[in-house]
Amino acid sequence: MNADDLPTLRAELEAHGLWANKGLGQHFLLDLNITRRIARAAGDIAGKPVIEVGPGPGGLTRALLEAGADPLIAIEKDARFLPLLAPLAEWSGGRLRVVHGDALTADEDALLAWTAGVSPANRSATDTASPARTPAVQAASIVSNLPYNVGTPLLVKWLKAGAGRGDMTLMFQKEVAQRIVAKPGDDAYGRLAVLAQARCSVRLEFTVPARAFTPPPKIASAVVTLKDRPDPYPHLDVLERVTAAAFGQRRKMLRASLRSLTPDAEDLLRAAELAPTARAEEIDQAGFRRLADAWRARA
Ligand code: SAM
Repeated sequence: MNADDLPTLRAELEAHGLWANKGLGQHFLLDLNITRRIARAAGDIAGKPVIEVGPGPGGLTRALLEAGADPLIAIEKDARFLPLLAPLAEWSGGRLRVVHGDALTADEDALLAWTAGVSPANRSATDTASPARTPAVQAASIVSNLPYNVGTPLLVKWLKAGAGRGDMTLMFQKEVAQRIVAKPGDDAYGRLAVLAQARCSVRLEFTVPARAFTPPPKIASAVVTLKDRPDPYPHLDVLERVTAAAFGQRRKMLRASLRSLTPDAEDLLRAAELAPTARAEEIDQAGFRRLADAWRARA
């Protein structure tokens, strides 16, 4: 299956009279060499379920279908793209399911269970999904060129959904990508790094210059892979609270910044075996886990 036989993405946008809506973070990748590179970064997805947020004109969708994603559930908020994506769903032989909805509130488990219950022959090209909730949890890769305005909340939502959900290959603004992979002492080190690395091994795969997008955003983007780590920290809500306090005043010593969490911050730090004079930016993953455990022990 080769997407080079399809009309070009630019021709499809023109044929449907579509233009980018900046309010929805629309910056399109119309070069299949780049979307294929993103699909390759996701590893072997042939025959495996994949979720894509924001297919837009479908450049990455095409690459994911070429790579064999099955099913590929593509959640798009902008209804203008549905008629453009419908022929792609047909071309995919029923592997692509386009869902009109908001990824921030989408229930991925329900979508996966719903898709799993439908045989390819019975799949329709486009669904406005309100599938019935089922308890089945299936692992699925998430591969997306994320809308900039909701990239971070989407990542936090998926991290908090828990381990064992599948790998993620995601394009963000470069500065957000750097915050995800940052290590203690880096300027970009903060809550996002601690949360992401509590659940995943993270890697910045490659950067993509702004000029590769239509229309070009102000800054470059980068693709990050996030893979389940063998020892995920299970209490991300607690970690979120603790890191919010610690990095809320990142230049202050922890004994001061953690006062927003508890009046006896020094006791908490002692229980977590952390120096009261340390600053959040110096604390590694293990240190934050101890701090979150110490905070939980008090609840
Ligand atoms: N995947 C396409 C590509 O690479 O060319 C488009 C990427 S564009 C950066 C982001 C896409 O996400 C747009 O199609 C936009 O309409 C869609 N989008 C924005 N907010 C969304 C949301 N909350 N839920 C689902 N899709 C959303």
